Amino acid sequence: MGKRDELIHVPKRIWHKHIQQALEAYTGIESEQSKQTTTGCNKRRNWERVSLNPWDVTCIECREFAHATYLNRSLIAAGAAKNDFLPEAIKQELKEESESAALVAKAFT
Ligand SMILES: [Zn+2]
Repeated sequence: MGKRDELIHVPKRIWHKHIQQALEAYTGIESEQSKQTTTGCNKRRNWERVSLNPWDVTCIECREFAHATYLNRSLIAAGAAKNDFLPEAIKQELKEESESAALVAKAFT
């Protein structure tokens, strides 16, 4: 009998999942999704075995993947926030996004 995977992973398409959740919260309509998804460690797993919550994810490889992904997001937002052609409100939003992504990245270490 094969060893069962008891780990909780992150979805590989983290931002796709975030946008999907935001849309569902906004419209109240649950979007259709396939039973399984590809994980940060490149496995196929049911959605029940996948989470975006740093406190839930137990797969080390997925934690590293999520850490790198959120850190990258934080750096991109911080860089964009320095663009002087953007309105102040947008720059402020990007700064906040950068800070929260950095916090999530840290939580995944
Ligand atoms: Zn994993």
